[in-house]
Amino acid sequence: MRKYVIMGVQGSGKGTQSQMLRDDLDLVHISVGDIFRWHVRNRTKLGAQVRRIMAAGELVGDDLVESVVRRRLDDHDWNFGFIIDGFPRNGRQAEFFMESYDIDAVIHLELPDDEVRRRVLNRRLCPNCGMDYNLIADRPEVEGRCDICGHELVTRADDTPEALEARLRDYHEKTRPVLELFRRKEVVHDVDGRPPLEDVQNAIRKTLGLPAYTR
Ligand SMILES: [Zn+2]
Repeated sequence: MRKYVIMGVQGSGKGTQSQMLRDDLDLVHISVGDIFRWHVRNRTKLGAQVRRIMAAGELVGDDLVESVVRRRLDDHDWNFGFIIDGFPRNGRQAEFFMESYDIDAVIHLELPDDEVRRRVLNRRLCPNCGMDYNLIADRPEVEGRCDICGHELVTRADDTPEALEARLRDYHEKTRPVLELFRRKEVVHDVDGRPPLEDVQNAIRKTLGLPAYTR
């Protein structure tokens, strides 16, 4: 049984890295962002609550995140373990989480803010089929058009420089105390998030003592 937490700023690739670990190790990937998106898309009661919070320009509160994570973990479908992304959000949650679940490792993907800005502000999205693009790494074949469906690509509404700065500030403020707490327990593995995806994945595996990634 492997129980991992992955931490990293938006754009650090933690979603992709988590999925690569999940597929290979049969872990359950618990992504707080994905859970909320699912509820919003499927118009559940929780989804309506999240939509109201975001429409008011606010962030989903720590308590709501915690109850969603608790409920998800209570499903106990993680026979081989889990990798959790988007939690814990503060020191109190980190403390509770470590005591309840005996975490094996915290993977901390490091990415300098300048690199985050470069990655995030070059993101484009197809509003029709949901395909993601990046003007640096994943350019569409025809400029401004989706490779899959041909629809015109757009920038996500919250990928403005101002919104990104606010999210970066929020991330650093929230992450610092959580990381400090985990560091005291000596479970944090810092991994450089700048190299290509597979290199990052192998760096994660090396530090966790896992076999190298093979496609
Ligand atoms: Zn498309």
